[in-house]
Amino acid sequence: MRVLFLASEVAPFSKTGGLADVAGALPKALSKRGHELLVVTPLYSQVKDKAIQPAGGPFTLRFPFGEVEGWLRQAQLGRGHRVLFVDQPAFFQRPGLYQEDNRDYPDNHRRFAYFSIAALAAAELVKFTPEVVHLNDWQTGLAAVALARGYQGTRLSSARSVFTIHNLAYQGAFPKLVMDELGLPWELFNPEGLEFYDRPSFLKAGIAFADALTTVSRRYAEEIQTAEGGWGLEGFLRDRRHKLRGILNGADYSEWDPQADPYLPARFSPKDLSGKEQCKKKLLERFGLPAAAVASPAFGLVGRLADQKGIDLLLYSLPRLLERELTVTVLGSGEARYEQALRQLAARYPRKLGVKIGFDPALAHLLEAGSDFFLMPSRYEPCGLNQMYSLRYGAVPVVRRVGGLDDTVVDLKEKGATGIKFGDYQPTAFLEAVDRALGLYRDRRKLGEVRRRGMAEDFSWEAAAKQYEEIYQSLAAREGEKMAKPG
Ligand code: ADP
Repeated sequence: MRVLFLASEVAPFSKTGGLADVAGALPKALSKRGHELLVVTPLYSQVKDKAIQPAGGPFTLRFPFGEVEGWLRQAQLGRGHRVLFVDQPAFFQRPGLYQEDNRDYPDNHRRFAYFSIAALAAAELVKFTPEVVHLNDWQTGLAAVALARGYQGTRLSSARSVFTIHNLAYQGAFPKLVMDELGLPWELFNPEGLEFYDRPSFLKAGIAFADALTTVSRRYAEEIQTAEGGWGLEGFLRDRRHKLRGILNGADYSEWDPQADPYLPARFSPKDLSGKEQCKKKLLERFGLPAAAVASPAFGLVGRLADQKGIDLLLYSLPRLLERELTVTVLGSGEARYEQALRQLAARYPRKLGVKIGFDPALAHLLEAGSDFFLMPSRYEPCGLNQMYSLRYGAVPVVRRVGGLDDTVVDLKEKGATGIKFGDYQPTAFLEAVDRALGLYRDRRKLGEVRRRGMAEDFSWEAAAKQYEEIYQSLAAREGEKMAKPG
């Protein structure tokens, strides 16, 4: 099948989080299954790749706020796997993708309305006739509206749309006047359309107008239909549950493989874990922790320093956690208050806590490889990739029982254990989980067993790609009954 895939970030070109990993790996896996994928994404200033070639333009799109000229560039990544970049320097050649200094760009509504429409125009320009248009997160929500309401007589007229929610908390909701600025029809500004508490929400637009909905784990698909996890959209999603499906993301094992990882001082496998010890030594050294700490269990955490990731729970728990014989290394960037609090704690516990603020993929690999345990005390977690990587790297995950974490980790008390789970979002529950990890560390035989079992887990993209393929096929089979209204 021919699939047009829109994403606001695509690894390895641009990345702030898991969406980029998905947009890099899923099209690749689908193209390997014989489908033809055209991925469209913005050309940000962080996109640097010599293989990117000019692919057309200029083309002009008209909005009430003005005319915007754009160009196309492209990279052929493999057979049936092409990435088109929308080049609009004023919108996308900026230091950040969505924000700078933790502040969203004030024209994000224009930038991603433009991107959504330009991506559809791009398919026309390169003469790509998709059967399915796969949209991702709020940045592409308006493309669902455009597809449902227009494009008659074009290459896109019979395309069906799939909208994937990677994180329901980011809603792309803007002040009401944006309706006129972007030329969105006011008749759509109602609770069944894109209105959300008197503001247009691009995320809701995607949910309202797409033909099929997916999210990134089975458990998260359930959670977003509840008051606790629905961010006010639970009812709207419950009404559409017949077309909502949870498909677990895969891990890209070509990038995350401890047996062939170029970022590690030594490689290791389930059969021979000796290299992991060397990684641990290097990790402690990189974080300025004493070499003697190699004998104690090493706990690590990599991630965005945001509420979602449970950083406040970590901060509350750390002073008591660090009374135990262990080390903790943290790599992350995000909210200033968390960065500051972590730095302060590291200064207070220089022999036990190492903190690096920044975004550093090479160090993220070393941290996975050198840690005995990997911490993910998330408040919520749509899918989460780090726990899958940590399983493969023999860093036993200690996770909160939510979303994709619940779907991918099997607790010590259960058959086939691969990690440790806790429920309450409370320091006592978190510390208890850490103590269970310490108990496991003392039982070397059992630790080896749990570790090896985790390393053998396979969350490959193959499995996910098959499930997306099923959705695409069922949509294509329904071709002809396309309706130009939401619901
Ligand atoms: P989310 O998408 O919510 O940020 P995921 O666990 O799904 O969380 O994906 C996060 C991805 O970003 C992983 O590949 C992780 O290794 C990477 N990552 C997050 N923070 C950092 C960082 N500070 N340095 C390097 N990589 C990071």
